[in-house]
Amino acid sequence: MSQELFVYNSLTKRKEKFEPLSPNHVGMYVCGPTVYSNVHLGNCRTFISFDIIYRYLQYLGYKVRYVRNITDAGHLENDEDAGEDRIAKKARLESIEPMEVVQRYTVDFHRTLQQLNTLPPSIEPTATGHIVEQIELIKAILKEGYAYEVNGSVYFDVLKFNKDHRYGKLSGRNIEDLIHNTRTLDGQQDKKNPQDFALWKKAEPQHIMRWPSPWSDGFPGWHLECTAMSTKYLGPQFDIHGGGMDLKFPHHECEIAQAESVHKEAPVKYWLHANMLTLNGKKMAKSTGNNILPHEIFSGENTLFSKSFSPDVVRFFILQAHYRSILDISETALLAAEKGYSRMVEAVASLDHLITSDRCDFEYDIWLEKCHQAMNDDFNTPILIAQLFDAVKFIFTVKNGAAKINQETLDKLKNQLPLFIHNVLGLHLNTDSTSQQTDTLEKSVALLITLRDKARANKDFETSDLIRDALNAMNIQLFDGKEGTTFKVN
Ligand SMILES: [Zn+2]
Repeated sequence: MSQELFVYNSLTKRKEKFEPLSPNHVGMYVCGPTVYSNVHLGNCRTFISFDIIYRYLQYLGYKVRYVRNITDAGHLENDEDAGEDRIAKKARLESIEPMEVVQRYTVDFHRTLQQLNTLPPSIEPTATGHIVEQIELIKAILKEGYAYEVNGSVYFDVLKFNKDHRYGKLSGRNIEDLIHNTRTLDGQQDKKNPQDFALWKKAEPQHIMRWPSPWSDGFPGWHLECTAMSTKYLGPQFDIHGGGMDLKFPHHECEIAQAESVHKEAPVKYWLHANMLTLNGKKMAKSTGNNILPHEIFSGENTLFSKSFSPDVVRFFILQAHYRSILDISETALLAAEKGYSRMVEAVASLDHLITSDRCDFEYDIWLEKCHQAMNDDFNTPILIAQLFDAVKFIFTVKNGAAKINQETLDKLKNQLPLFIHNVLGLHLNTDSTSQQTDTLEKSVALLITLRDKARANKDFETSDLIRDALNAMNIQLFDGKEGTTFKVN
């Protein structure tokens, strides 16, 4: 391919030509979830965005090492270091072991992302599995003079770092504003300045998650794990660091400070940030009830939407917006996405039945060039989808006899469309998506209920019992009521 890839770098705030540090190899780190609750739909959007980037880089022929961590310790309730560990808090509230919380929500995270057909990363390290590396990193930062110990806790000295380097270059905040705007919270008396952040926290006696260290029995600060693990698996300098927009400050800013204070060089060449997802025009928040979990959309068990939507439809919907723009999810938008997605699948399936001719009304090479142009322009999936629909429209026109296609173009489309739809966009091309399966199941059971009613009307109880028992054996329970028979899948 002659075209070059351009990516929007949050650090320089412009699109830059993508040139990895070592040819043909890409190192990419993405901040993963804190596993103390079910994965949010907004997080899913972020991970789908980086899944597209991972997939497209591989499509271009790069060998990619994709590292995405699991935060299973150290993420405090608020970012000012004064709160309780989120996982420890959840464990305390539910009277369970912190590692039970971690296990439960790691399973939920993996299951949901698999339903949404995101590829697993090359390495998925956990914070608790890298305590040694984090302690070593703190030692190195202390040695360089950018951290200090107080009462068994270690803090990063932001003002000292800012004198020698610049703190705030990613988020565009300057230290004077930060000093002005940072509140001093309870429990922060140990810090020299409120902007400083914890590298190691001494554990209170009741704190269950704790590890020995040269400073105290305690736990690492949240920002530390990403620097320790990205350095370990990708080196002190790597190509892409990604995450949600909300992580730019303070999390990513702190990562830069930690890495630069030890390695004396910028850790990341391209910083990429995915934008947020709103629901019915408003910010998603559990507290206001304007919130929906992915599995509630897939199952239809929610009060916001009148029907279920398959993970493929949700994924297709998400890809209809560019990853850097805000996206609003609503029933109307999902219905439109569902229609569009099934039309696309139908078009690809009908390629097998098109009649070819000597003439061709489709300019394949120009079309392919435009598709690549879209993705090479900072992974512009909505433009790629628009191009795909040009092909879809053409396929239907040929099917209706209003246009012609030759064998060569047909073969090329048969080869290329699945590459874009399946390999790059990560959408399934078979028709057995979850919602269609549910639909088929509902229709089949309804048919069996009709047959059973008929048998009962004919006093053929042998047949009616046979149907009921056979369904029962498949965990489908029938309920006979005044309004007729309903069923439930257990
Ligand atoms: Zn991170």
